[in-house]
Amino acid sequence: MFLNHSPLWGESNGAAVWWGVPPSSLPVPIHPVVAFVAMDFVGARDVAEATAAKASIPDAQYLAGGTDLMVDVNLAGHRPSGIIGLRRIDEIQDLGPTRIGAGVTWLRLEQAPHRALAQAARAVGSPQIRAAGTIGGNIGTASPAGDGLPWIAALDAGIEVASHDRGRRVVPWNEFFTGVKQTSLAPDEMITAVVLPEDETEIQEFAKVGSRNAMVISTVSCVVVRTTAGYRVALGSVAPTPMRAFRAEEMINAEAAPSATAIAEFGRIVAEEVRPITDHRSTEAYRRHAAGVLARRLLERCLVA
Ligand SMILES: Cc1cc2nc3c(=O)[nH]c(=O)nc-3n(C[C@H](O)[C@H](O)[C@H](O)COP(=O)(O)OP(=O)(O)OC[C@H]3O[C@@H](n4cnc5c(N)ncnc54)[C@H](O)[C@@H]3O)c2cc1C
Repeated sequence: MFLNHSPLWGESNGAAVWWGVPPSSLPVPIHPVVAFVAMDFVGARDVAEATAAKASIPDAQYLAGGTDLMVDVNLAGHRPSGIIGLRRIDEIQDLGPTRIGAGVTWLRLEQAPHRALAQAARAVGSPQIRAAGTIGGNIGTASPAGDGLPWIAALDAGIEVASHDRGRRVVPWNEFFTGVKQTSLAPDEMITAVVLPEDETEIQEFAKVGSRNAMVISTVSCVVVRTTAGYRVALGSVAPTPMRAFRAEEMINAEAAPSATAIAEFGRIVAEEVRPITDHRSTEAYRRHAAGVLARRLLERCLVA
């Protein structure tokens, strides 16, 4: 285990010191840094080391790609008491049909054997964000807008977690995500993988709507899958957690060969089932409308595939 006290960031002592850019030209306030504070950093080489470190420094935070965590640190003044780096852990790097390691980056997921996850990966941030950001970090942040989360819900996947004292367990997705940026992960646990049921998915499609075509957090995201048992539809950014539209699923699965009217009704029910809010990205009404349109279009793609 690599443990040291690193001067990763500091705190203001009241004097304004800026890095290179004149304050007047900065779009957002940056915390002035004048004195570095010591903190614990653990560069874990395996899950056992990472979870042992978490057990000994309970307030420490895991660092995967840092694309969410470092925004909190740099712009929101977040100061964890320690950092446990996960980038050197090989055992969370697997990318297979039924298991995706928490450390797999969006860049690698662009080539995933799961079509809708690859589509979601290509829509995340920029090449720099995709090279660093991981699916484990997306799950750890548990933002309603996390682009990987509707796919997890649509596939009925589980989240595998590990702790130093209790070993591993798999938590069903709908028990893992409990609210906006809230999960049932215990303080001493880490996310190790997304675990998929034996592959019964025949077709899967992802799409998201945002205020522009790239580098955009989802206003609404949607995944429709066709399995041997029927269709499933999951959505993001329209509820505190990723959600399934079960009434719409039931309705469409009762149709042997969905007509245009049935497909339209499917979209209408999805729009009715979602629970969006109005915030700085969109309105409740637009999100509801977009959810119905996305679900209908993805269903149409699945039907012709
Ligand atoms: C410019 C920009 C654009 C973005 N665009 C998108 C986008 O289009 N779509 C999208 O979904 N997201 C987007 N994001 C958010 C972010 O990139 C993703 O959520 C990404 O997947 C986070 O992964 P990470 O490895 O960087 O997580 P980190 O920042 O390292 O960690 C995030 C959180 O998860 C915890 N964590 C990380 N790994 C684990 C683990 N194994 N076990 C337990 N907890 C863990 C950390 O402690 C932290 O709380 C964007 C971010 C930026 C800065």
